[in-house]
Amino acid sequence: MMRLYMLGSGSGGNCCAVEADGTAILLDTGFSAREIERRAATVGLDLTRVRAIALTHEHGDHACGAPRLARRLGVPVLTAAGTWDRLVAGMGGAAHQPVGLRATVELGPFRIEACPTSHDAADPVALVVRTADGTGVGVAYDLGRATAAVRYLLRNLTALVLEANHDEVLLRTSGYPPVVQRRIAGSGGHLSNRAAAELLVELHHPGLAVVVLAHLSQRCNSADDARAAVAPALRRAGFRGELHVAAQDAPLAPIDVVMRGMVQLRLAL
Ligand SMILES: [Zn+2]
Ligand SMILES: [Zn+2]
Repeated sequence: MMRLYMLGSGSGGNCCAVEADGTAILLDTGFSAREIERRAATVGLDLTRVRAIALTHEHGDHACGAPRLARRLGVPVLTAAGTWDRLVAGMGGAAHQPVGLRATVELGPFRIEACPTSHDAADPVALVVRTADGTGVGVAYDLGRATAAVRYLLRNLTALVLEANHDEVLLRTSGYPPVVQRRIAGSGGHLSNRAAAELLVELHHPGLAVVVLAHLSQRCNSADDARAAVAPALRRAGFRGELHVAAQDAPLAPIDVVMRGMVQLRLAL
């Protein structure tokens, strides 16, 4: 079984981890190393089990803790090639392993896959971690729009951490200058609640057990708005799993990621 730890998410920092068979991987480290250590301790995530840090892209809210954490934990950093080019000078000699469309990484019980996303960073990716039993966890933040490649990568997952950045009306009335609004809503920016709901309906399948809405804008969204936009659409699509909303300031309780069919089988036994 995989366990998902959402340590925090939003434009002020993103970090989560997956764990299986006593091995863990950090997915984005967008808080300081000290803050990630503090949050990990509060939810019982043992960082000595971390075998790698995988980063979606080089923006500070996804990568700022990586240099120090990679050094302290003595683990490699997995990124797309272009992301590493941007980060390498500040990484203090950390080991790098490329991950991308043609570079799947096998690490302990995990298989880590990635594909490019549409976002205004050097070489951004969405990440999927799978285990041999077919369980899969996906993480997709900072999606200007969901490309065909992203839709393909995120199919057949057991748990999906997906950006639901803004409510479209709140964005229009946010007071942000039009140029900023266009950047946020554009193909290099962020997914709205409505776009996240549409993508989730498309990706829904009977094995999907956990959805975590993430990277909510502080100014143009709220947990209630994100949930209200997504929950009814997911329910209509047949989703009967857990829907969570990640917070910026505090971790969620650890989430056990078990395929839906397995849950029903267990209940029946
Ligand atoms: Zn970004
Ligand atoms: Zn971001």
